[in-house]
Amino acid sequence: MIDPKKRLPMLSASLALVLMSGCAGNGAASPGRSAIPSGPSAPPAASAAASSPSSPSPYATAPGGTAPPAASSAPPSAEVPSPSPSPTPQAVEYKGPVEHLFFHPLVAFPELAFDGDRISQGYDDWFVTVPEFKKMLDELYKRNYILVNLTSLYRTETENGKTVAKPQKLMLPPGKKPFVLSVDDINYYDYMRENGNAWRLVPDTDGSVTAWARTPDGEEKTSRDWELVPIVDDFVKAHPDFSWEGAKGVLALTGYQGVLGYRTRPDSPTYEADKKAALDVIARLKKDGWLFASHSWGHVDVREVSLARLKQDTEKWEREVEPLTGPTDIFIYPYGSRVPDNDPKFAYLRSQGFDVFCSVGPSPYKIFKDGTLQMDRRHIDGVALRTQRGRLDPLFGDTPLLDPARDGKAG
Ligand SMILES: [Zn+2]
Repeated sequence: MIDPKKRLPMLSASLALVLMSGCAGNGAASPGRSAIPSGPSAPPAASAAASSPSSPSPYATAPGGTAPPAASSAPPSAEVPSPSPSPTPQAVEYKGPVEHLFFHPLVAFPELAFDGDRISQGYDDWFVTVPEFKKMLDELYKRNYILVNLTSLYRTETENGKTVAKPQKLMLPPGKKPFVLSVDDINYYDYMRENGNAWRLVPDTDGSVTAWARTPDGEEKTSRDWELVPIVDDFVKAHPDFSWEGAKGVLALTGYQGVLGYRTRPDSPTYEADKKAALDVIARLKKDGWLFASHSWGHVDVREVSLARLKQDTEKWEREVEPLTGPTDIFIYPYGSRVPDNDPKFAYLRSQGFDVFCSVGPSPYKIFKDGTLQMDRRHIDGVALRTQRGRLDPLFGDTPLLDPARDGKAG
């Protein structure tokens, strides 16, 4: 296993580019310091948010969540081998590596993402398109991968007044390989709307969540085909054995331009309506199995900022984002820029209730240390698809994945 400390400088430096380009879209070096541009007149806060009653989640009851009695409990005299395999195999302890794959919001409109403007290279490097993501789901499913909740990998206990994360046995159907899914920056920043991502998540008529956008043609509409969240929801509905106990993924949110496409900063002119709509969407997402994580408020580079700045930033997240998502103990380092365990900034984040710290690395890596879970995530994006195919083979095989729509980009 590679020491993550050794490989991080390179990774974080390259990952920094994604936000460099992102920030360039905001015309500021630091998202934390940039005021929200009033932006192209924001669409009215999802009118559908007007409380359509939520239907019970189809995934609330886990298929096979309670293990059936062990086959071995059959009378030992039964010597004739059973001719048919049990339709609900008993879960067994899984001891292998746990993959953690992360994405950014999907490219819904390649003609905007790869149009040759100054952000196109960033989009080519750090994002995946809808067809690419759908192919990946098919390949993962074919290879017996199964979504698991990040929270199923640990349990928390209180020790000496402190919350600590402890390893927890992962029980899975035999033959299944677990992976955790996370999505960073699912905030729909202004630059994302201008460059081919969806604009926000909105309620769908069936109680779940779909994507809304103003298309390059100027139409304002929803599609379940524009974002990872509804795509995964639909895939799991069609293939319930792709999700263990209803697991979906972790949505990592900043706050500097609101959350999920809602401008929920208190200084936003649409604050009240957007807050209400965001709360509704978040409730639906949670019901459907999605979890939330902090990605800091201002997308700060934790290794680089001062402790004072990190405190200010975290207080803003706790004031503006946590009331929407509810408490979370998961912190996902922006830029994958982790700090050592002996750094006062790490102790500070722990004191704020974070027990799980996710960074970035090229292969599955997780350790429990001093009451925390620290886990690397693989970045699944254009860079990975172009330069790390060998490493991705166990996940996706050698199926061609790169979307020809990427070739639209100039240069
Ligand atoms: Zn990020």
